[in-house]
Amino acid sequence: MIFNTPTIFASVALVALIMAVCLILVGQEHKRDGMRTGGAGLFAHALAYCCFTLYGQAPLWLTYGVGNTLLALALAFYAASLLRIHGQPVPWSRIFVLPVLMAVALAALIDTREPRMFAACLVLILQCLLIMAWAWRYARHAGRAHLLLLLGGGITLIGLLLRVAAIASGAAAELPYDVSNLRQTVSVSIGTVTVMMFSLGLVLMAKEKTETALREMALRDALTGIANRRAIIEACEREIERARRVGTQLSIALLDIDHFKRINDSHGHLAGDAVLRQAAGLLRQRLRQSDEVGRYGGEEFLVLLPDTGRDGALTVIDGLRGAVAAQPAVFGDLVLPYRFSAGLWCGVPAPGDSSDSLIAHADAALYEVKAAGRDGVSVAQPRLA
Ligand code: GH3
Ligand code: MG
Ligand code: MG
Repeated sequence: MIFNTPTIFASVALVALIMAVCLILVGQEHKRDGMRTGGAGLFAHALAYCCFTLYGQAPLWLTYGVGNTLLALALAFYAASLLRIHGQPVPWSRIFVLPVLMAVALAALIDTREPRMFAACLVLILQCLLIMAWAWRYARHAGRAHLLLLLGGGITLIGLLLRVAAIASGAAAELPYDVSNLRQTVSVSIGTVTVMMFSLGLVLMAKEKTETALREMALRDALTGIANRRAIIEACEREIERARRVGTQLSIALLDIDHFKRINDSHGHLAGDAVLRQAAGLLRQRLRQSDEVGRYGGEEFLVLLPDTGRDGALTVIDGLRGAVAAQPAVFGDLVLPYRFSAGLWCGVPAPGDSSDSLIAHADAALYEVKAAGRDGVSVAQPRLA
């Protein structure tokens, strides 16, 4: 099926314009999420295709030179948008080298035919490769939206390579923008794919990024940055299940800062917050990578020690107590020494053990330490076989 080439250009321009307006409107809310940059790209894309539509009726420097430079500008904005969505700094000068190269090359070659067509295709190919490389590098860990960019970039690349092959085989005369034939229909229709895939890819990528950030926020304690109660209990369930399945030891420690209320009462809530932050940082820093720590309550932390029995757990907790004693918290000019008590449950979880029941055992052991005067450790009694 052969379509009228200027009509395809016009419809691509219309689609790009509509998508540009949508992205710019969405981007108004979140100034740095890359949507407005993507919208700017689509706007440049729409203008490029408007220039192409005028081919044969307006000077070549406008319909070909400015048109292709705008297209290169559009791809540069897409690349920038991708980086912005992923919170990466945008190397603007590097990104705009290729559109500038396009402008310079076309200004020099506008009166030639094959060389100017080769030059335009080459710059666009480089830009597609750049977008695909960045989509792969920055987005492959989160979601699947980057696949749309890879697909859009890949299809555009194939279209451009087919164009290069056609020019190389002497068919350049069949490819002016006002000629309608099958080759042109296929080649120009690819522009629609580029617009749709890139704009949808960028929107979905921003959505995935926000969802990942929200999921992170839902599992992090805002004050200390470590896992919150929900996350550490989920981790506890996971570790119990794993230890039961494999038959390995697990230790669960509930730590509670002693007389924490006094710190708040004497130095204020912000000083108390500083102690909590320092304690959380110290725990995270001293524990193994495979151990987990989370804020279980106000001044209580839950520590999970996989593959660790009673003796190992007592050594770890003693190490933590020593570190806390050696490094008091600092708040402004204030040095705030603090101590904690710990209740431990250690063993191989049995069927029917849950995070609730094992944490309750650790809590009972903690209560014993508190009753005995604080600043110590107690291990829950092993159940009778
Ligand atoms: P004990 O030795 O028996 O554990 O005494 P305690 O003072 O540490 O324990 P208590 O339960 O009496 O007080 C805990 C205090 O922790 C009360 C609460 O106001 C404070 N708290 C809870 N969350 C936060 C927080 O996010 N920041 C600050 N600064 N204080 C908090
Ligand atoms: Mg407490
Ligand atoms: Mg306490």
